[in-house]
Amino acid sequence: MIVDVHTHFFRPESDFGPALRADLARCGVDPAAWGHVGERHLVTTRDADVAVVFGLQAQATGWNIPNDAVAAHVAKAPERLLFFAAIDPAQPEFMAELERCHRDLGAVGVKLAPLYQNIHPRDPRCCEIYRYCVRHGLPVLFHAGTSFVGGTMLDYSRPVHFDAVAVEFPELRMVLAHLGHPWEGETIAVIRRHPHVFADLSALYYRPWQFYNSMRLLVEYHTEHKVLFGSDFPFTTTGSSIDGVRGVNAILAQSGLPPIPTEALEGIIQRDALALLGLKHPANRRD
Ligand SMILES: [Zn+2]
Repeated sequence: MIVDVHTHFFRPESDFGPALRADLARCGVDPAAWGHVGERHLVTTRDADVAVVFGLQAQATGWNIPNDAVAAHVAKAPERLLFFAAIDPAQPEFMAELERCHRDLGAVGVKLAPLYQNIHPRDPRCCEIYRYCVRHGLPVLFHAGTSFVGGTMLDYSRPVHFDAVAVEFPELRMVLAHLGHPWEGETIAVIRRHPHVFADLSALYYRPWQFYNSMRLLVEYHTEHKVLFGSDFPFTTTGSSIDGVRGVNAILAQSGLPPIPTEALEGIIQRDALALLGLKHPANRRD
């Protein structure tokens, strides 16, 4: 079974604020290149058996993807899509929104993005979310590592801050996205220490040298079993990400550098992320 733990849903026309539009323009990204994100999501995620889907709520950087829109999208393929609620701890009613998503919209996890939300992962408001998630068995997927957005504290996305969260909330199941790039080594140090802290491989394969080195580091620290497969659709797709992980050794050519073992790569692609995160397969949810 392949689980893509990291896919986005949004409609740039209505969900992107001025700050986000400016950041995209500065980095030369044209949202039109993603086409119709919802339609493409339903097609491209078929390369996995199950996909986790979320929007993003981050007033500080202009992301306003309503959870209702994401839940409605997930309802189009409820047998293979799982909805994670995007919660912005900087908004006054964030706990009510979390409860609403969990109770009424069927959220089975939470997406937080401290860098985008300009909030430290150990802020008391975040801790309130963690307590709720522990109580109800909801995993939290964090954006970790850098991003193209500006105007907020890069420090808030440092993997080491999630180490402190894991010490305080040892039962909280956490996923640190993108191996916390470019601090992959720091992320590996964190996920190795805590049984319930994982990382995902999303959005990494297209920086081949960095990706190869991160994968070697994972293997050398024997931590690949703590890594989940993810794509970061629509920035890439499930299928291209599977090919990208399988193709990591292509840059070695005749260099004599050690390859990443196939078992390590397939182990990540086929990892049972649902069991590790305490999630039910969406097809069996109503039992
Ligand atoms: Zn993402």
